[in-house]
Amino acid sequence: MNALATAASTPAASAGAAAAAARGPLVAADLARDFPILSRPVRGKRLVYLDNGATTQKPEAVIEAERRFYRESNANIHRGVHWLSQHATDLYEQARERVQRLLNAARADEIVFTRGTTEAINLVAYSWGRANLKAGDEIVLTGMEHHSNIVPWQLICEQTGAVLKVVPLTDRGELQLDAYEALLGPRTRLVSVVHVSNALGTVNPVARMIERAHAVGAKVLVDGAQAVAHQGVDVQALGCDFYAFSGHKLYGPTGIGALYGRRELLAAMPPWQGGGDMIRTVSFERSTWADAPQRFEAGTPNIAGAVGLGVAIDYVTAIGLDRIAEHEHRLLAHATEAAQRIPGLRLIGTAAHKAGILSFVVDGIHPHDLGTILDAEGVAIRAGHHCAMPVMTRFGIPGTARASFALYNDENDVAALVAAIARAQQMFGGPPR
Ligand code: PLP
Repeated sequence: MNALATAASTPAASAGAAAAAARGPLVAADLARDFPILSRPVRGKRLVYLDNGATTQKPEAVIEAERRFYRESNANIHRGVHWLSQHATDLYEQARERVQRLLNAARADEIVFTRGTTEAINLVAYSWGRANLKAGDEIVLTGMEHHSNIVPWQLICEQTGAVLKVVPLTDRGELQLDAYEALLGPRTRLVSVVHVSNALGTVNPVARMIERAHAVGAKVLVDGAQAVAHQGVDVQALGCDFYAFSGHKLYGPTGIGALYGRRELLAAMPPWQGGGDMIRTVSFERSTWADAPQRFEAGTPNIAGAVGLGVAIDYVTAIGLDRIAEHEHRLLAHATEAAQRIPGLRLIGTAAHKAGILSFVVDGIHPHDLGTILDAEGVAIRAGHHCAMPVMTRFGIPGTARASFALYNDENDVAALVAAIARAQQMFGGPPR
C-alpha cells in the first residue's frame, strides 16, 4: 500500500502524506498502484480499464476499510446498548459527515444513505412525488437521462396523473436551453436533470437550470452519478433541492450511495419504506416516524459499505477533486484528438463542456463486436445503449462504444485503446479509405 492509500485509511495520519501528494499534476501511474485489481492481467494482457462510467475500481484503502470493519467493528447500528454497536454507529455517522463535506451540505442530517443513485431517485419519486404531484402537474426531464431518472417518474406519473416534459438535445449532445426555458411554467413541479451524461459526457449547466426552475417555483433533483468522482460538487452553491450519487462510481463499494435533500423538504416528506429504525413509536392503531434521515433508512443499512464510502471520500479528497478534474480533462482532450484521427470513427457527444467520457461509433463495426475485440486486447470498455436508450434514438444509432476515464488512467491507456480499435478495423477489412 503506498503512502496515499495508508493516509486515506487512517485519517489521523493523513495530513502530511495527503498534503505532499496534493501538489502539482497528479501522476496516474503512481495512483494506479493503490488499486490492486489494475495489476492483474486480463486475457493474458495488461488490463486497460476504461469502463469507469459503469463502476470505478477500488483502492486498497477502501478494500481494507470494509475488511477491517468486519474484523474489528461489526455490530448493528442505532439500536444497541453495547460498546460495539455504539462504535459501529459512530463509524456509520462519521461516514455521513464525510458525504456532507463532499457535497458541502449544510448539515449531516440532510444526507440519506441509499443503495445508490437509482434508489435515491426512487426515494424522491415515491416519497416527495406521491405526496406533492397531482393530475396535470409537469415533471421536466432531459433527453439525456439515464433510465433510472426516467422510469421512476413514469411510474409516479401513472399513479398521480402528472406528465413528463423532455428537453431536446442538439446534434452535439447539449441541452437546448431555450427549449428548456420554454417548457418551464406554472405547472412545472419538478426538474430532474443529470449533472454529467453517462452516454455523452456532457456537463450540464445545472446551476443556471436550477435558478430558472426555482423562478417558476419548481424543485430540482440533480443526478450526480457521473459527476461526484470527476469534479467538486457544492450543493449549497448549486442551490439544488436534491442531489443523488452512487458510492461505487466514486471508488467506493457497491450497494451504497446517498441522497442529499434540503432539510425543510426532507422534514416534510413521508416515509417511502417501512420497517425498523425509521419509526418513533409503533402500535397496531398508528405508528409515528423518526426524523430525517432515519425516516428514510428503514432496516439494517449497508454499514460496512458506508464506512468504505467514507474512506473513498477521504481518498479522493486527499488527492484533490480539482486535480482529478484537471487530469481527466487533459486525458479526454488527448483521447478526443487521437480518436478524431481514426478514419471511420464518429464521436457521439461533442459538447463544449464535457467530463471524461468518450462515446463513439466505428463505420461497419457494431459496438458490441468492437467491445468484444477490444476485450481480447485487454481493453475494457462498455458497448450498448448505456441505459440511455432515448439518447441512442436521438442519434439514430443502436448504441455506442464508450471509454470512460478515472484518476488512474493515462496516455498509455489511450494508446492501447487506439491500437485495439485499429486491430478491430483490420479484422473487419481495414479502415475506410
Ligand atoms: N444516473 C447516471 C447518469 C448513471 O450513469 C447511472 C449508472 O450508470 C445511474 C444513474 C444509476 O446508478 P446506480 O446503478 O449506481 O444506481
